[in-house]
Amino acid sequence: MRDLRISVTDRCNFRCVYCMPRDVFGPGAQFLPRADLLTFEEIERLARIFVSCGVRKLRITGGEPLVRHDLERLVALLADIDGIEDIAMTTNGALLSRKAKLLAHAGLRRVTVSLDSLDDEVFRAINDVAVPVTRVLEGIEAAVAAGLGHAKINMVVKRGANDDHILAMAEYFRHTGHTLRFIEYMDVGSTNGWQLDDVVSAADIVQAINAQWPLEQLAANYPGEVANRYRYLDGAGEIGAIASVTQPFCRGCTRARLSPEGRLYTCLFGAHGHDLRSLLRRGANDSEITDRVRSIWTMRTDRYSEVRTAHTSGRAKVEMSRIGG
Ligand code: SAM
Repeated sequence: MRDLRISVTDRCNFRCVYCMPRDVFGPGAQFLPRADLLTFEEIERLARIFVSCGVRKLRITGGEPLVRHDLERLVALLADIDGIEDIAMTTNGALLSRKAKLLAHAGLRRVTVSLDSLDDEVFRAINDVAVPVTRVLEGIEAAVAAGLGHAKINMVVKRGANDDHILAMAEYFRHTGHTLRFIEYMDVGSTNGWQLDDVVSAADIVQAINAQWPLEQLAANYPGEVANRYRYLDGAGEIGAIASVTQPFCRGCTRARLSPEGRLYTCLFGAHGHDLRSLLRRGANDSEITDRVRSIWTMRTDRYSEVRTAHTSGRAKVEMSRIGG
């Protein structure tokens, strides 16, 4: 266990058609009541326990993490934990220009910003809340200006939705220092109507870019890195491809995931989380919670992505909008 992804809310200000479609997450949708969310202090306590179990990197996600009030206060608490080497956040970027400075000041190191197209019409059709591309690009600029360094840009590629925007995205982010990462559209949750035909394979994406701007594959930055890395031979920078559907990477997985209400998931595709909040709230001491975390992690058997079959792919899984990407 090296990475902990902390989802701080199940709410989002976007209604991306492949993640929180409006017909399921419309006005009547039920979200977690506030009292069910872990407090920042509870998250910090659990993070310290996870660090004692080997975690070195934290990623804050959601839902949309920036819709949780005062998120910078959580970042500051987490940044104070000895043993943490990296704190990053995955965001849709819509609120980033307002928050980047505060977050950087609190100790955030890096951001990953999701952006599925540079074409306003296509992007608005995906986010379904009419947020324009410029708002996200301004967020990325604000992150750089705040000292958060170059961003990773996540583009989920869904056939028929944005697959003809791959080259335009690649061209835009060449020479910027930002790393564009293409993500295969995944079968997560049970609300996005996923089908294999909608997946554009990472291999096809890389091939299309390579035909335009030749690429060379790079070694992983660290064991367990999920993105395959490539660099442009002309020196324009780097891209990543995350082949979670066509080349599952369960064996090297070092990621634990904490949901907003304090459930530990050992797999993005898991249907069941392990309740840690009730331990916290009934006064368990750190060593009891540590034992519980260790035993959940060492007993884990899920490698859902590897064993995916036509039979299992329709089964219920936790929503991506609950435990982040
Ligand atoms: N709201 C934040 C954001 O948009 O980055 C964080 C949470 S979001 C669930 C994390 C990432 O998961 C985003 O990059 C999103 O595009 C990606 N994602 C959501 N549903 C997906 C799916 N079905 N397949 C692949 N990636 C998905």
